[in-house]
Amino acid sequence: MSRVLITGGAGFIGSHLCDRFLAEGDEVVCMDNFLTGSPDNIAHLFGNSKFKFIQYNVTDFIYIEGKIDAVLHFASPASPIDYLKLPIQTLKVGSLGTHKALGFAKAKGARFLLASTSEVYGDPLMHPQREEYWGNVNPIGVRGVYDEAKRFGEAMTMAYHRYHGLDTRIVRIFNTFGPRMRLEDGRVLPAFMQQALLGEDLTAFGDGMQTRSFCYVDDLVNGIVRLLRSEYAEPVNIGNPDEITILQFAKEIIELTGSKSKISFKPLPEDDPKVRQPDITKAKAILGWEPKVPRTEGLKRTIGYFKKKLGIK
Ligand code: UDP
Repeated sequence: MSRVLITGGAGFIGSHLCDRFLAEGDEVVCMDNFLTGSPDNIAHLFGNSKFKFIQYNVTDFIYIEGKIDAVLHFASPASPIDYLKLPIQTLKVGSLGTHKALGFAKAKGARFLLASTSEVYGDPLMHPQREEYWGNVNPIGVRGVYDEAKRFGEAMTMAYHRYHGLDTRIVRIFNTFGPRMRLEDGRVLPAFMQQALLGEDLTAFGDGMQTRSFCYVDDLVNGIVRLLRSEYAEPVNIGNPDEITILQFAKEIIELTGSKSKISFKPLPEDDPKVRQPDITKAKAILGWEPKVPRTEGLKRTIGYFKKKLGIK
């Protein structure tokens, strides 16, 4: 049995990780300052004696009493709209926050896992993206605050690994979806779901021909847990390689929700990647992991959550 610290534990992915570790009998310390996370995501865990919540900004010095076996650093704004609104907090949590979380892991002799991102590949010139690809990032673009913070976080994690011998893992997370995504986080799935369920136009950006590959959150969590338990310190892509254009995705959501909504077009945001698909050869070989939940099945499981959030029966 172990005790884990999850920073950003009240966020979308963080809260699913809290559930998973508790379900396995581990103790969870969840840290979040609710900048983009929400108490709603962890409300069901209060009262569980194995769950402890600390409202805290991870860019400050971290101190927690008792043993900690693993630190999973998931705190960060993670949607393009959020990091446009919160550019300095995004840079700080990815750099200063990662440094604090690494220092804390070192002090506790804990294993450390960094939540990195497919954004380290920027607007990729290699397709699909393999871990060996160094990326195509605009450092001073509007997305640079997230991309560069995560790239710095990876560099810092590898430095702690190499210089201090810290036991570290890096997961590069591709587009993930499921219950507990914030309705207003601006990402394509909550936006399309809300629009479809309310009968509004689905807003495809640009010509809608850009692609993404969407992974259901349960699959992602399985991959992260496997990576944490592996002995592999270099970055590993976790995502679903099933790639789709945003336009096709809009049509799929209209169909699955039985909506009468139409699709309208809006300008493409700056530096929006044109394609994205994970190469998961490494995850398959090293972790024996691959996604199991098809996108349409995951979408069906997610519709109920959004209906409830919107007060639709
Ligand atoms: N997108 C869209 N309409 C929306 C929100 C997003 O067409 O209402 C597009 C966006 O331009 C991008 C893709 O959907 O090409 C995925 O965007 P998201 O914000 O979910 O995350 P990203 O994958 O860009 O980090």
